Amino acid sequence: MKGTINVQAENIFPIIKKFLYSDHEIFLRELVSNAVDATSKLKALSRMGEVTAEIGDTTIEIKIDEKKKTLHVIDRGIGMTAEEVEKYLNQVAFSGASEFLQKYEGKVDDAGIIGHFGLGFYSAFMVAKKVEVITKSWKDEDAVKWVCDGSPEFSITKSKKMERGTEIILHIDDESKEFLEEQRVGGILDKYCKFLPVPIKFGTKEEYMDDPDGKKDDDGNVKQVSKTVDNIINNPDPLWKKQPADLKKEDYNKFYRELYPMTFEEPLFNIHINVDYPFNLTGILYFPKLAKHKVELQRNKIQLYSNQVFITDSVENVVPEFLTLLHGVIDSPDIPLNVSRSYLQSDSNVKKISSHITKKVADKLADMYKNDRKDFEEKWPDMQVFMDYGLLTDEKFYERIQPTYLLKNTEGDFKNFEEYKEAIKEKQTDKDGNLVILYTNDAEAQHSLVTKAKNKGYDILEMNTPLTAHLVQHFEMKMEKVQFKRVDADALEKLIPKADSAESNLSEDQKSALTPVIENVVEKEKFTIQYESLDENDPPMMITESEFMRRMKEQAEIGGGGMFGMGNMPENYNLVVNSNHGLISKILMEEDAGKKEQMAKQAADLALLSRGMLKGEKLTAFIERSVGLIQ
Ligand code: ADP
Repeated sequence: MKGTINVQAENIFPIIKKFLYSDHEIFLRELVSNAVDATSKLKALSRMGEVTAEIGDTTIEIKIDEKKKTLHVIDRGIGMTAEEVEKYLNQVAFSGASEFLQKYEGKVDDAGIIGHFGLGFYSAFMVAKKVEVITKSWKDEDAVKWVCDGSPEFSITKSKKMERGTEIILHIDDESKEFLEEQRVGGILDKYCKFLPVPIKFGTKEEYMDDPDGKKDDDGNVKQVSKTVDNIINNPDPLWKKQPADLKKEDYNKFYRELYPMTFEEPLFNIHINVDYPFNLTGILYFPKLAKHKVELQRNKIQLYSNQVFITDSVENVVPEFLTLLHGVIDSPDIPLNVSRSYLQSDSNVKKISSHITKKVADKLADMYKNDRKDFEEKWPDMQVFMDYGLLTDEKFYERIQPTYLLKNTEGDFKNFEEYKEAIKEKQTDKDGNLVILYTNDAEAQHSLVTKAKNKGYDILEMNTPLTAHLVQHFEMKMEKVQFKRVDADALEKLIPKADSAESNLSEDQKSALTPVIENVVEKEKFTIQYESLDENDPPMMITESEFMRRMKEQAEIGGGGMFGMGNMPENYNLVVNSNHGLISKILMEEDAGKKEQMAKQAADLALLSRGMLKGEKLTAFIERSVGLIQ
């Protein structure tokens, strides 16, 4: 029999060929998925008693014939009768393909999402100049052969095929020769078909085993013999489909290596998701060890599947952004794939799935915190960037996770907010009733400041992730009467002001006389001179950087928080002059202009030096001047 697919079909084949240029490889996913579906349907019919004959081996086979330039997808599924071929391939499959083209023609820019959507059977024409389908239905009918060379005409004839099932033969066109290469095809199968639920054979491989006759080698060990066996490329029974109760940590870690063969690091812990109502969602998320100081974190490590068919590894429209830092697998047939990215985000199923995943992650963290606080503290450094990111970007996550957020001080002790506030409230409440939380981003570089603050009975936190500036801002906004100050934000007495500041013991006239002397020895644009009555044991001069200005600068550097595009902000520091220090009065009184300047310069340089800000030429000059002074 001969026929024409459809009058409107005239142009569909050239379009299919040109379409989805970069995503041609998905034709194989489509054909193998169809083979899997046909096999699953057969098994279902068998369970229901419709199919009574033995089903036998249902391994799907993929074969390349280099000479004939053909690629074969062979299944032992339900097959199709002549009538079904007419109905499914000429009508159903065709209407699916043309609907798809109507929807997406001209929107090729969004190639990413289009690739996720299957053209179905007709995607074969993206790579083949001719397609043959030889199929025999489980119903006792003659096998048929359907042939179509890409024009709207097709032919259906009888075939001698004896076994139940379908063989699709693609005559690969000249531009698509890559799909006749074993490595290329193997790569595509590994990407899309690795966890399909029916065994898939592609070629053969050598396997070594003990000699069946028990022959021994010279060393007396049983000889190893090689045997050629079918190369099964998939794991039909992936871990996420199993019951969490049956699984151990080792099983999860082993599966992690199966997912990421090139990763040697073990995951911190995992979350097994298993929901079937009100949507279907299974999966395993792994929490990787995250490097603390990296802003550039590895993403796209979560693989999205639909009924075990790989769809994509960019899940940013399916889960909140901070969760894309996790690794693992999400499998849901309820995530629509044939829609644009923006639509995906507003889809109600996707929203539900997304918030379910967030909740599962937060619950797991809360459980771990409750059940084994010590272990949680040990994992904290590897989790912190994730926590910070989640807290900052997801309101619900913030609420769920805030009670388990840990603050680590310079002694290495961990406390949550409640515990911490309780511990510091006596010493670190200022005159207005604000609780002032002090932190350092580098205890080594800020050693003298940290030590002084500790001597005063203050506690100092270590906060030094790239998100710290955003984070402290966020905590201040969320919590009442809590302020964060970095130890170098102000002179120690000023960090937690206890009483209204003492009057300066320098008169306005004295200040006016001193200011130009100091301005003369520092970069005027960079430093604002500020007089403070500090302890006489405090240094004569010190450099501080206002908490507010520094945060603005840091936020602008990392971006976000409305600061995008601000670029680098100018450096701005305070040069605090301790008006109670003897040296300051001495500088003021000195009559020799040269000496006066030298003293001021030495004091200012010492302040810079203690902040690690004295470098290059200035440092050299300082050292020479100091040697001169000692002599
Ligand atoms: P979809 O799979 O989305 O329905 P396709 O265009 O891929 O669309 O296939 C159309 C129909 O052709 C399928 O629904 C199925 O009934 C039939 N079909 C395709 N491949 C096979 C196969 N290997 N065995 C049996 N039937 C098949």
